[in-house]
Amino acid sequence: MNIERIILTHVRIPLEEPFTISSGSVSEKDCIVVAVQSNGVTGYGEASPMSGPFYSDDTPESTWTYLVDVLVPAVIKEQPPTIGQLNLLLDRLGGTPFARAGIETAAWDLEARASGNHISALLGGGRSEIESGLAVGIYPSIDILLKRIEVYLKEGYKRLKIKIQKGWDVVPLRAVRKSFGDVPLMVDANCAYNRDDIEHLKRLDEFGLMMIEQPLKKDDLEGHAFLQKAIETPVCLDESADDVRSVERAIELGSCKIVNIKIQRVGGLQNARTIHDLCHENGLPVWAGTMPELGIGGIHALHLSTLPGFSYPTDVESSARWFTDDIVSPRLRVNDGVFRIADYSSFDVDAEVIRKHKIREQAFT
Ligand SMILES: [Mg+2]
Repeated sequence: MNIERIILTHVRIPLEEPFTISSGSVSEKDCIVVAVQSNGVTGYGEASPMSGPFYSDDTPESTWTYLVDVLVPAVIKEQPPTIGQLNLLLDRLGGTPFARAGIETAAWDLEARASGNHISALLGGGRSEIESGLAVGIYPSIDILLKRIEVYLKEGYKRLKIKIQKGWDVVPLRAVRKSFGDVPLMVDANCAYNRDDIEHLKRLDEFGLMMIEQPLKKDDLEGHAFLQKAIETPVCLDESADDVRSVERAIELGSCKIVNIKIQRVGGLQNARTIHDLCHENGLPVWAGTMPELGIGGIHALHLSTLPGFSYPTDVESSARWFTDDIVSPRLRVNDGVFRIADYSSFDVDAEVIRKHKIREQAFT
């Protein structure tokens, strides 16, 4: 890997509808496209934090600054010869996992294009089809929630995930079960509850959920272990599972039965694969979550999902479900609830769309 040039492009694309979770609401998708060039080949990665105080403290601004000031100059100067060496360098530099994921996934993409392999093959994955699940946010009323679910479920998604928070859990779940029967259903609380809520959360068992995702605070692995002992519904960690050590600790404590692996949250594909391997060895199924990312991040998540432990549908959805436009060709499109890896073995970046939605760009040599 002789990196000659890295180009960063910050793009902002309006969402089809505002996305509201327990911690906030967004109406635009920001991402930083990282293009890494070597010997006439370009690999693409996506650094994809949400704007504002949403999923984490990382913002497009902080991610851009860290890429420009620290990561990109260091990678060009040190020229790590392999992805393993690149990860060692990124470990040393620290900083936001989103910035790191942008450059790390671009290196995998470059290696795949240069060698004529799929990223899934480089990772060691074997699955050819990935099931996709529908995720919906929190809406102003039950009526609107049910109408939105009805529209999107027609595309054949394999499960439904609804966001919950205090005061928006039992009632919407009862309404969803009444309207959509035994659809495979899960919930995501994005850290909205406390240990004091464990008695209340036991009420969710009656809905036969596939899992409850990140009910308690990010740092409360012990609390998640108490909760998991108290309820039948499998607990899935998302925000808490930010690195290998956290997942090791969660397994030791019995904090969860399932792990959501996000490439952005863990800082790239190599870390994501390591967490997958750890969970797989310990009998914990995993699945690939999203921020959601635009198409580059989405396609990389599909390739990651070909590893054997990815046993639940991914949050990667059709481009048109969230975004008014997307930066890849072909666009992501669910067919009967699945993505075929062969359709996304490679992709082009749509330069016209990037030009249209570009906020800023900077090249490094
Ligand atoms: Mg989540």
